[in-house]
Amino acid sequence: MPVLRFDNVSKHYPGGHAALAEVSFAVEPGEMLFVTGRSGAGKSTLLKLIQLAERPSRGAVLFEERNLARVRGGGIARHRREVGVVYQNHQLLADRSVADNVALPLVLRGIARGEIGKRVRSLLDKLGLAARAGALPGQLSAGEQQRVGIARAIIAEPRLLIADEPTGNLDPGLSAEIMDLFAALPERGTSVLVASHDLALVKRMRKRVLVLEQGRLVDDIAPEDLVDA
Ligand code: ADP
Ligand code: ADP
Repeated sequence: MPVLRFDNVSKHYPGGHAALAEVSFAVEPGEMLFVTGRSGAGKSTLLKLIQLAERPSRGAVLFEERNLARVRGGGIARHRREVGVVYQNHQLLADRSVADNVALPLVLRGIARGEIGKRVRSLLDKLGLAARAGALPGQLSAGEQQRVGIARAIIAEPRLLIADEPTGNLDPGLSAEIMDLFAALPERGTSVLVASHDLALVKRMRKRVLVLEQGRLVDDIAPEDLVDA
């Protein structure tokens, strides 16, 4: 069963042209893929539909084969907890330590304090952030901050992780490092969907690539069919 499925999805913003037009694709459990395209192609809109930050004008977005159109009220918050989100500017709480930032999704789920401490330490360790646990986000480098953002997005083991231009503020070396980190996540069973306009970086990763052009899905490239830029 796919984790995520877009079935002929179109999105029109009020007064605008189609931000997405008849887009269909499916994401399998543990799969990593990219969505790429120029600025304005519809990448952010696609991710917003997955988080229920926007609703389709036509067609259906299905999460584990459940039509998100039927998710309302308290179901919206429940759905959002099943999808981890990494932001370009990582949106960390400036006055909370790294450990507290990463712990937040577990606190919101009401998990016991001792268990939270254990899981946070273990994940920070895996991401090479153990020594920074007590630091404030402002004391970290850009790459470290983005790793903390990723840690917070995956600590609760979401079925799907989505990221909108997660390397937008990083230099090429750090960008590659962050992408490698995403690529390691499917081994944990999490599907990963990353929006990026950086085609060279995307191609280097050798993963499936969805290509958007003016809201249309014009290509869905398998890793073995990627041609070097
Ligand atoms: P990106 O290219 O990373 O999506 P944008 O600068 O296009 O960033 O968009 C930033 C924010 O502004 C987004 O939340 C987007 O939904 C919103 N936005 C983009 N275009 C418009 C528009 N024409 N009218 C209103 N809001 C817009
Ligand atoms: P991308 O992330 O690829 O830059 P977006 O999904 O942000 O693309 O935008 C797709 C199209 O939808 C663009 O033409 C953009 O201006 C428009 N758009 C995005 N958000 C809004 C919004 N809130 N209101 C009106 N138009 C929007």
